Amino acid sequence: MHPEASNVLILGGTAEARSLAHTLVAAGVDVESSLAGRVSNPRLPAGRVRIGGFGGVEGLVSYLQERRFTHLIDATHPFAAQMSQHAAVAADRCQQIAVLRFVRPGWADHPDAATWQWVPDLAAAAAATAQAGRRPFLTTGRQSLPSFADLPAEHILARVVDPMAPPGPAWSVVHDRGPYEVAAEIYLMQHHGVDVVVTKDSGGDYTSAKLSAAASLRIPVVVVSRPRPTLPGSVQHGGVATAHRVADVLAWLEE
Ligand code: NAP
Repeated sequence: MHPEASNVLILGGTAEARSLAHTLVAAGVDVESSLAGRVSNPRLPAGRVRIGGFGGVEGLVSYLQERRFTHLIDATHPFAAQMSQHAAVAADRCQQIAVLRFVRPGWADHPDAATWQWVPDLAAAAAATAQAGRRPFLTTGRQSLPSFADLPAEHILARVVDPMAPPGPAWSVVHDRGPYEVAAEIYLMQHHGVDVVVTKDSGGDYTSAKLSAAASLRIPVVVVSRPRPTLPGSVQHGGVATAHRVADVLAWLEE
């Protein structure tokens, strides 16, 4: 199909999704981006935008069919596992809609990856953080903070997108969003006396400056591995094709 004959729904909420929307709109593709509505002042992508959940798989199936989408691109964050699962199942149910997962590669190939402590989930991250230091820097997102509520810490620095009250007297919360620079990350970590950095394996360059900053300050890093998608058998069998580059998405649309 020629890309200009496509009607594409992008599940977004990431810098990569915005960049993809920008490229597709510039190429004349009919694009709508969907955001969950988690942050109060989201950076909006080019093209049409809708905000809010679909109401589960059923709601997404109806949305795709009623608006006659030809392509569904799941460009959500690597840790938005539920939305990715819904996308795969909904596309399986709408056989005429092609689906692609567009996701940035993780940090497993980062030069310092072997020096980090990789953990499977947030509970394990909290346990590893308690062992590694007393002044953690949490960059795992607002929704993850309850997992660290019982840390035996002197001071906890958390970075989140939207302003929020510190969860306790030992906490400092900074609100910011990437991209970040190494020098500013070093300053922030020194200013707060950070002795362990905690992150998800988000991947990409947008938020990776903290990893270089931690390496140059010789601060240990705890990394939460990406969740494995849990898909029903029928969907798992076919799988969902994955692209890491915008050029590969364009090639897929042209197929
Ligand atoms: P999630 O747990 O996978 O999804 C929970 C529910 O939120 C979904 O079932 C869906 O509701 C709704 N939803 C999620 N993404 C949506 C989208 N792009 N458009 C419309 N509805 C969406 O998601 P999450 O981890 O809370 O992440 C929410 C959003 O924030 C995602 O779009 C993601 O790209 C972005 N984000 C997430 C992280 C992270 O660490 N998880 C980091 C940065 C950005 P319904 O079932 O009602 O359709």
